[in-house]
Amino acid sequence: MSARAKVNARELLDKYCIKHPKDMDIRAIANAENLMIKEEDTKGHIGRIFIEGDAGIITIDNKIKEEGRKNFTIGHEVGHFILEKEREFYCSNSDIMNFWQNKNHEQESNIFAAELLMPEEWIKQYVKWKDEALETLEEAAMMFGTTLSSMSLRYAECGKFPIAVIFSQDGKVKWSKISEDFPFQWIENGQKVNEYSKALDFYKGKEIGKEKEDILADAWFAKDNNFEKGKYFYEQNVVMKRLNGVLTFVWDD
Ligand SMILES: [Zn+2]
Repeated sequence: MSARAKVNARELLDKYCIKHPKDMDIRAIANAENLMIKEEDTKGHIGRIFIEGDAGIITIDNKIKEEGRKNFTIGHEVGHFILEKEREFYCSNSDIMNFWQNKNHEQESNIFAAELLMPEEWIKQYVKWKDEALETLEEAAMMFGTTLSSMSLRYAECGKFPIAVIFSQDGKVKWSKISEDFPFQWIENGQKVNEYSKALDFYKGKEIGKEKEDILADAWFAKDNNFEKGKYFYEQNVVMKRLNGVLTFVWDD
């Protein structure tokens, strides 16, 4: 199923001759596909779509401020339209934020949106590692007009430099995504943020900076089968206060 979502996204890129992140205009694509876009109070949903025949109306929450988040949400709704053609979908923040949940339609639409807004070849071609994860990924998110978190996931999936991306909330790991060639591969969802990670400071009520820090692998990877003591990584954290969470990047030098 997810292979089809990717193929459909690429077909849309070809159809509109989009060859560079700067050519991407998701609103124009949606309009050209007979989808009207409105921004309104969606009453608890981040996005929704009503479909009738070959046309539809996408509504995104008017409380979303970040342009990248609006774009990803529109891309996700276009995904429902292209992939399902069912009558309506109501999408929550967690439907769109979390790539690995079991709700099949939501996951497929996310795969579609990721492939449409951040095609794999473009990530490899245009996103150059710049010594620090945050600088690299913020700049990439800006170039691709998407969010830092969706770009981080995408980069861990197909970027050239191996990283681990971890999102914790209320002091526990909510999800993580680790590049295939990163030294360790296992972080358990639900594991507690521990004292070896700087992210713990946030959960203790302290301010944390955005600069990179040296950390022991024990911070995140103690449950990995290949775990070895004494291994150091770099860690960089971005606080997401609204979610009581921290987005953490970990990489080897
Ligand atoms: Zn959805």
